[in-house]
Amino acid sequence: MPQMIEKHINFIELEKACAEQDCPLCVIISARAERFIDGMLFEHVSDRVFRREYRLAGGFCAFHSRKLETFHDGLAVAILGKDILEDRLSSFKKRKPWKPKEECPVCVERKRIEKEYLTFIVQADTNNKEVKFRASTELRSIFTASEGFCAPHYAKLLETVKHIPQWLIEFHENKFNKLMERTSRFVELSAYGRQEEFIALSKKDQLVWKELARNLRGDCE
Ligand SMILES: [Zn+2]
Ligand SMILES: [Zn+2]
Repeated sequence: MPQMIEKHINFIELEKACAEQDCPLCVIISARAERFIDGMLFEHVSDRVFRREYRLAGGFCAFHSRKLETFHDGLAVAILGKDILEDRLSSFKKRKPWKPKEECPVCVERKRIEKEYLTFIVQADTNNKEVKFRASTELRSIFTASEGFCAPHYAKLLETVKHIPQWLIEFHENKFNKLMERTSRFVELSAYGRQEEFIALSKKDQLVWKELARNLRGDCE
C-alpha cells in the first residue's frame, strides 16, 4: 500500500514538472533540494546524527552551500558552519590537506531522487495491470509533451535502468537529433555573408546555443 501512495505522489509531481519548460527531472530535483535544505536547517540542526554527517561531509558542496545564504535561519547556518570551521582551523595549523570523508548530503539526496524517478517512469510503463496501464498511458502522453530529459539525465537513465521502453528511447533520440540539426544550422548561418538567412531563423533557433548549453549541463546539481 505505501508503494501505491508513493507512486501517486511521484505521478503528480512529474505531471507538474512536465508542464515547465525544462528537463522534468531537473525541475523535480531543484524543488526537492530546496525543500531538503530548508528541512535540514529548521529541523535537524539539533539532530546529532545529522550534524555528524554534515561535519564529515565538510558541509554542503560549493553548489548547494550557495543556497545557504538565501535562507533566513542564520543561527542554523552558524551552528553547522562552526563545526566545519573548527576542522578547517585544525588542518590549517597542522598544514595537513583537508578532505571531506563523506559526500554533500544534498548531493546524496539528489542521487536518490534521480534513481527513484528514473525507475518510476519505467516501472509505471512496463506494469501490465489494468489500472497501472491507464496510468502509464497517461504518463507517456504527459512526458512526450514535455521537453524530455537533459543529456546528463538521459545518460543516467541509460546507465541505471535495464528495460527502457522503446518510446522513451525514440523520444530522446529524436529530441537530441533535432537539437543537433538546429545547432548545425545555427553554426552554418553564423558564417560571414549569411546574415539574411540567419535573421530569417525563428527567435528560438537564433538562441539554440542557450538551449544546447542547458541541455548539455542539466539544470540542477
Ligand atoms: Zn535533467
Ligand atoms: Zn551538493
